[in-house]
Amino acid sequence: MSRLKAIQGDITQVRVDAIVNAANTTLMGGGGVDGAIHRAAGPGLYAACERFHGCPTGEARITSGFNLPSRYIIHTPGPVWHGGNHGEDELLANSYRNSLRLAEENNCHTVAFPSISTGVYAFPLDRAARIAVTTIRDFLKTDHVIDEVTMVCFDPTTYAAYQKEINK
Ligand code: ADP
Repeated sequence: MSRLKAIQGDITQVRVDAIVNAANTTLMGGGGVDGAIHRAAGPGLYAACERFHGCPTGEARITSGFNLPSRYIIHTPGPVWHGGNHGEDELLANSYRNSLRLAEENNCHTVAFPSISTGVYAFPLDRAARIAVTTIRDFLKTDHVIDEVTMVCFDPTTYAAYQKEINK
């Protein structure tokens, strides 16, 4: 059975060991999924994130889930799309890989991702979905901690793109 699936939904409502936040490099909250996660998790999250003093693009940091149903939140700033010749593909892969590494180190069996960088950061959706699915599958080949990774897609277009890539 596949350990990677896509669903349509709101990642703040998902109950897994760790959800991933498509953050920005300040880690101090923002719009989109980041804002939704901060609102749902409560002010404790802001205080926890403050202590990191930011995070470079493609790296990841972990906090508790606070008021969310999930135990942990892994924060990763994905790349802003600048046309594709500024290392965007590799940086996006790094965001997925480094988030999964943190999940593994913290003994998470179930992990949920949003579609990193395809909102305000404007990364082309099909290209992002291909990178996400390839990177997650490669990681799972050698990982023995994570049982299931779920791509939580907020809208039908995003869901269709990940579903297509997973079923290829
Ligand atoms: P980025 O800045 O990395 O592009 P965004 O938050 O703007 O991040 O968008 C990333 C993806 O997250 C988009 O597909 C957006 O529709 C989606 N998104 C927004 N809110 C939620 C949510 N509550 N749960 C899951 N995905 C969400």
